[in-house]
Amino acid sequence: MPEGDDHAGDGPSPDARSTELAERLKLVQERLATAVDSAGRTPGSVELLVVTKFFPASDVERLIELGVRTFGESREPEAGRKIAEVRAASATPPPTFDMIGSVQTKKAGGVARWARQVQSVDRTRLVDRLADAAATALDDGDRDAPLGVLLQVSLDGDPHRGGLVEGDLSAVAERVAEQEALDLRGLMAIAPLAGDADRWMSELARIQHDFTARFPDARVLSAGMSGDLEVAVAHGSTCVRVGTAIMGERPLLSQ
Ligand SMILES: *Cc1c(COP(=O)(O)O)cnc(C)c1O
Repeated sequence: MPEGDDHAGDGPSPDARSTELAERLKLVQERLATAVDSAGRTPGSVELLVVTKFFPASDVERLIELGVRTFGESREPEAGRKIAEVRAASATPPPTFDMIGSVQTKKAGGVARWARQVQSVDRTRLVDRLADAAATALDDGDRDAPLGVLLQVSLDGDPHRGGLVEGDLSAVAERVAEQEALDLRGLMAIAPLAGDADRWMSELARIQHDFTARFPDARVLSAGMSGDLEVAVAHGSTCVRVGTAIMGERPLLSQ
């Protein structure tokens, strides 16, 4: 199903998609609230990022109507185009978009113009490019605050999934902290498919504990997706990134 062809507003019943999104969003919000409560954490302490990659701007607009203001996107330049379209139709308060997918160094300029945070920073060269790009975006008035940075942690060391192994986190974090146009906020991880999510998340919690001892202001922990948000919240996640459970299945080609 190509982007733009799914459930867009030109079908016979344009409101069916909004109804579906509203129902699924409510279920996920309830799951999240239950998980936060079970973990004995403060209500509202975990942000829900709705991952709209591969879905059209019209779906983002439907979600804004439903009150969602925090979104995750993963591909540039498609994301930048979609966000420009969404922002042209103003909303109060305005929506924010995080980059959660791997960023090609040459695409840093585009991402720095629209992202609240880049959650997938995993190399020094990318830090340098994002710093330059964010400084330019600030000068040009394309953004009014430094670009937030989360370092992506690799839990299993698989280079294909991206991310930094634990031993490399501090050096890259120091590099981010040196940049005026960047703001080091914390860590992000994707639990590997193999193995027990609970084990991976407790490993991540340990890594984060050591990381915040060195970088006490960088306390964001972005972990948990459609399938494992409860486990992530139990282990201290402050941001869950949920796509499928709200949007439905992505087209196969997109995975
Ligand atoms: C696509 C994606 C998600 C959403 O995953 P779902 O299983 O669809 O909820 C979360 N995080 C990242 C980094 C992603 O690329």
